[in-house]
Amino acid sequence: MGKKLLLHVCCGPCSTSSIERLLLDGYEPVLFFSDSNIFPYEEFMKRYENLLIVAEHYGLETILDEWDHGRWLERVKGHEDDKEHGERCSLCFRFNLERAQEKARELGIENFATTLTVSRFKSSARIFHEGEDLPGFCPIDFKKKDGFNRSIVLSKELGLYRQDYCGCEFSLRDRRCGDS
Ligand code: SF4
Repeated sequence: MGKKLLLHVCCGPCSTSSIERLLLDGYEPVLFFSDSNIFPYEEFMKRYENLLIVAEHYGLETILDEWDHGRWLERVKGHEDDKEHGERCSLCFRFNLERAQEKARELGIENFATTLTVSRFKSSARIFHEGEDLPGFCPIDFKKKDGFNRSIVLSKELGLYRQDYCGCEFSLRDRRCGDS
């Protein structure tokens, strides 16, 4: 059995190639769906249900965090009108990474990483910056080794839903305005 690692998961599609890579590297990932940024709640549950398809495929344990959207909104207060990739996104990364770190500590798992780095729309350097001072954070860049394209192939194979906005109501608004 490999070394346990808590994997913060942003959505099913991004989890696919990240899990594949971790398994190849000898890890035993425990999946942690903690995404209070996602809005509305129905979308949060839809993304979680898609993750369950992936978890079942790989035979992995999945933990669901509560949808604490109110607390997330407090964290990004004042940045509602930021453009995607601005300061609001850094605060959002930090929020989810802090929760993953807390969960890893609670479970006695030494290390954690995040699937957020798979997306070609998100800067891995920025995500690493938000996590670098959190104990146990592993700066694994899942974009590398063709991770993003591989996630598309695997998502199609598993018939996963692929969302067309990042997650929060502000990204949904900007997408509706044709702005993202
Ligand atoms: S656009 Fe995405 S990364 Fe940025 S704050 Fe919203 S959910 Fe978080």
